[in-house]
Amino acid sequence: MKYISTRGDRTERGFSDILLEGLAPDGGLYLPTHYPRVDAATLARWRGLPYPDLAFEILSLYIDDIPSADLKRLVTSTYTPEVFGTREITPLKPLEPGLQLQALSNGPTLAFKDMAMQLLGNLFEYELARRGETLNILGATSGDTGSAAEYAMRGKHGVKVFMLSPHGRMSAFQQAQMFSLQDANIHNIAVEGVFDDCQDIVKAVSNDLAFKRRHKIGTVNSINWARLLAQVVYYFAGYLQATASNEEKVSFAVPSGNFGNICAGHVARMMGLPVERLVLATNENDVLDEFFRTGTYRVRGAAETHETSSPSMDISKASNFERFVFDLLGRDAQRTRQLFKTDVEDHGSFTVSADEFARVADFGFVSGSSTHADRLATIRDTWQRFGVMIDTHTADGLKVARERRDPDVPMIVLETALPVKFADAIVEALGREPERPAALQGIEKLPKRFTVMRVDAQAVKRFIADNA
Ligand SMILES: *Cc1c(COP(=O)(O)O)cnc(C)c1O
Repeated sequence: MKYISTRGDRTERGFSDILLEGLAPDGGLYLPTHYPRVDAATLARWRGLPYPDLAFEILSLYIDDIPSADLKRLVTSTYTPEVFGTREITPLKPLEPGLQLQALSNGPTLAFKDMAMQLLGNLFEYELARRGETLNILGATSGDTGSAAEYAMRGKHGVKVFMLSPHGRMSAFQQAQMFSLQDANIHNIAVEGVFDDCQDIVKAVSNDLAFKRRHKIGTVNSINWARLLAQVVYYFAGYLQATASNEEKVSFAVPSGNFGNICAGHVARMMGLPVERLVLATNENDVLDEFFRTGTYRVRGAAETHETSSPSMDISKASNFERFVFDLLGRDAQRTRQLFKTDVEDHGSFTVSADEFARVADFGFVSGSSTHADRLATIRDTWQRFGVMIDTHTADGLKVARERRDPDVPMIVLETALPVKFADAIVEALGREPERPAALQGIEKLPKRFTVMRVDAQAVKRFIADNA
């Protein structure tokens, strides 16, 4: 399998070539040259496979430059009950007939990003050792992504993490999750500013190309193809658990921000997984809902980007969306380039033609959005009727799933985080503290390891140079 860019660079690269990269050199995103079709016999053979075996089968269709035995070992050591809590790894939790949650949040940081990031940590360590290279991952976080990256990379050979976060602005729980890590290769930098200051520092450091090269600076963005690929697996796992035969279809509802999670669902559907609908749910930051309702994609400015109680979906633009648009346009790279480079980068928006917009339905997409009041009502209703506590992001997904449900097709709502991560909203909705997994009792009291720094890119560079 080879990979190409969505913006016309036809250089065909192998999986290992793009594993450690972000954007393609022409500014596009990497996609496989085609989606392997999974026929009915293969899907039938996959029924009953344990999660790591299913993951190995799917990944093998896209990775042909890592020896099978090595890939099998990497996958098997990633998806274990010790790390993900159950033998099923992503078990279904029934709510009512035809409506269930798929638990993706039982990894170390209690959000679905662990599903991909844990594999990425093992792939990075393997590939860096194979090349005799090292990598320093630099990132900015307000919570979920940074902690998932740190728990994936902790103790890994050849990798160090430098993670910037706004000092004193994360919840006590999120701080404890990140700052209690004592691994020598994990560096938490608490910046005396807001999240945007952290992001600006990352940009300033990355724009210093000489520094970037000298210190082998890299990232673990959600645009990384390997992350997306790892997420394709749980759509298959959810489908196979929810159905008894390949004649049946299901729909998935996905709380969405950067379009990484649901893009994996799109890939699964393109491979032939019998998915009726992909239901995209946003919060008040409804960039994507607007596109799927109107055909206009318009990125938002800072003033129009709301801070909500489902903060991991607070986006102004959706960094993986270009992958879907490329497929929607029949893989016309020139047109994709026009829309994303010329129209979005220069004018902040594009509108697809009526013919192009009509094809959205062929890809199964429908959408909706949810507000803070909707989240509270959904959390309360789900707790009262089913005794199940859900987090704010999952609540966005469930709210829109109910609106977009077809009574004849089972609906699977992806649970993207556990409620304990967003305790304030749970207390507001239910008047009680969220349940906390036993392993995380009292983590706020653990010793913390972090460095406080002013908003100063030079100081951060010095810190990296001293510790890389
Ligand atoms: C990252 C995240 C999302 C959004 O996922 P995308 O892949 O960016 O669409 C939703 N919920 C939670 C809890 C997250 O951490």
